[in-house]
Amino acid sequence: MNYSQIMGIPVPKITMEETVEIIDQVITEKKAELFHVVTLNPEITMSCQHDSQLRSIIDEAGHITADGAGIVMVSRLKGNPLPERVTGCDLLIHLLEMGNRNHWSFYLLGASEMTSSKAAEEINSRYPNISLMGRQHGFFEEKDESRMVEEIAALSPDVLVVALGAPKAEFWIHKFKSRLNVRVAIGVGGSLDVIAG
Ligand code: UDP
Repeated sequence: MNYSQIMGIPVPKITMEETVEIIDQVITEKKAELFHVVTLNPEITMSCQHDSQLRSIIDEAGHITADGAGIVMVSRLKGNPLPERVTGCDLLIHLLEMGNRNHWSFYLLGASEMTSSKAAEEINSRYPNISLMGRQHGFFEEKDESRMVEEIAALSPDVLVVALGAPKAEFWIHKFKSRLNVRVAIGVGGSLDVIAG
C-alpha cells in the first residue's frame, strides 16, 4: 500500500470504496483480532505531535483514513496527494449500506441517550437487514466500563461504532481491544448525531 505522510503519520492513499472493501474483507475473514479503524482528523494529527500514547495507538491501528479536507489538502501541498477524504460520518454511512447488503451486525456506543436511541431507530428503519445488537450512550462512568465491555463481547458484533468524540474513542477502543470480541471498531465523532437528525 502507498502512503502519504501527514505530519509524520502514514495515511494510506486509498479511496472510500477501497476502505470499505478492506473492512468487508476483515469482517468476512472473521479474524480474532480487533481491527481498529482511525479516522484521522486535524485534531488527532496535532495531538499526536506531543501525545506519544495517542501516537502509538494510531501506529498500532489496523487502518487510518483521511478525515477531512484539511488532511487531503496537506497531502496535496506536499506533492503526495491522498485520493479523497474518508470522513467518519461518510464511512459509517457506507458501512451501514454494505452491512445492509451483507447482513452485518452493529453495536452503537456513544452520544447522548436521546441521540443514541433516535440513531438506532433510524438505522433499523433505513437498513432493515442490519442486526443492531445493542447500544449504550456515551456518558457512562469508569465503573460501568467492565459491564459494558462484557455486554459487547457477549454480543460479538461485526462493527463497534464508537461515537465518544476524538481522541476519546481512540483511547477507549485501544484500552479494551483485547476484550471486546468485535471484528471492527471505529471512532466516528458526531456521526450518530447526524444520523439521528
Ligand atoms: N460524546 C460522548 N461522550 C463523551 C463526550 C462526547 O458520547 O464523554 C459524544 C457526543 O455526544 C457526540 C460525539 O461524542 O455525539 C462526538 O462529539 P464531537 O462532535 O465533539 O466529536 P468529534 O467529531 O470532534 O470527534
